[in-house]
Amino acid sequence: MNTLKDININGKTVFIRCDFNVPKDGDGNITDDRRIRGVLPTIRYCLDRDCKIILGSHYERPEPGIYEEKYSLATVVTRLHTLLKLASTIQLATDVVGTDAKAKAAALQTGEVLVLENLRYEAGETKNDEAFAKELASMVDIYVNDAFGACHRSHASIDAMARLFDHDHRAAGFLLSKEVNFFEKTLLNPIRPFVAVVGGSKVSGKLEALRQLIDKVDKVIIGGGMAFTFLKAKGYEIGISLVEDELLDEARTIMIKARKKGVKFYLPVDVIVAPEFSDTVPSKYVSSQEIPDGWMGLDIGPASSRLFRTVLSDAQTIIWNGPMGVYEMDKYAKGSLKMSHNIADANATTIVGGGDTADVALRAGDVEEMTFVSTGGGASLNLIEGNPLPGIEALKA
Ligand code: AMP
Repeated sequence: MNTLKDININGKTVFIRCDFNVPKDGDGNITDDRRIRGVLPTIRYCLDRDCKIILGSHYERPEPGIYEEKYSLATVVTRLHTLLKLASTIQLATDVVGTDAKAKAAALQTGEVLVLENLRYEAGETKNDEAFAKELASMVDIYVNDAFGACHRSHASIDAMARLFDHDHRAAGFLLSKEVNFFEKTLLNPIRPFVAVVGGSKVSGKLEALRQLIDKVDKVIIGGGMAFTFLKAKGYEIGISLVEDELLDEARTIMIKARKKGVKFYLPVDVIVAPEFSDTVPSKYVSSQEIPDGWMGLDIGPASSRLFRTVLSDAQTIIWNGPMGVYEMDKYAKGSLKMSHNIADANATTIVGGGDTADVALRAGDVEEMTFVSTGGGASLNLIEGNPLPGIEALKA
């Protein structure tokens, strides 16, 4: 796979597939612009080589063909302009491969940046449609993929389009290269003790990653909603906590495998419980073995936070994916925030993956303290699972 420095882009028209799928609040304000900042080195490198630049990204999941303002990349373009500090304005096409995009692309001057509208306005994007990919490709000389967060999807701008360019005319951007190198190096050659901290809502979404991690790590810490499937598999009463009953056997198998391999497997020893999924009802701390009937666990308790801190104290490498509780509600955010501080304070290489997890680290003010915060949740899980990413495969083909 080429990276940008391996190919000649001087004076060329370059398409950069970005991942501008940034979180926004209820008023449409961008709450975390790391994905936009992440692609700046690639854009600047192209600008310094007198390129004309066309940027493409999806944003959420619009209905193809229906242009709704909330799915537009307009806010992203404004932020990009602020961050890039370009003298010229960054243009936003009103379509993706329509007359406006084509006209603006044709009129593009050296050092100018054009952003195409949300790629998913076109039905061909998610269908990995070759005809649509050809339309995109017809506007440029060079293809660059810097959208790590979208690389696990076989979509037209990620897969089919990359395959239309030969080896000398396509490359990975700096963000994509950095993400892949980080995960591959860490997983292949971790400095030990290597600890995985896994949380979030469901075991099912992270089952394969967990299976793979057990073969690589020295310790596993489980938190979040998924902990209750493991606690139930151990025979504990878990009240009305989130559980995946069909995965109880699988959970037992994972714990047995960990024991056989000498991997230390930690579950929360106490939790915060409430009678319903709400932050306006009374809640209390209980031991994980004493969850009352009719109550649900919504965060790990203070004893678990202390235990996990001790477990992390000798770690040299920590990989973290998934919050410890329902962190979106302040009342149940403490466990996740403390976990973030504990990981940030550890004298270890720390890798944070997943949108929610990065959000926790951001809220905790710990992002700068982490070694690496990935911009891709699904993509980083796929890398941990050892699955080939379509975006990377297409660049290698
Ligand atoms: P995931 O997408 O699998 O990483 O899960 C993230 C989500 O898990 C967040 O929205 C959390 O609110 C949710 N979560 C964490 N702990 C719990 C819990 N104990 N019960 C229900 N949901 C939870």
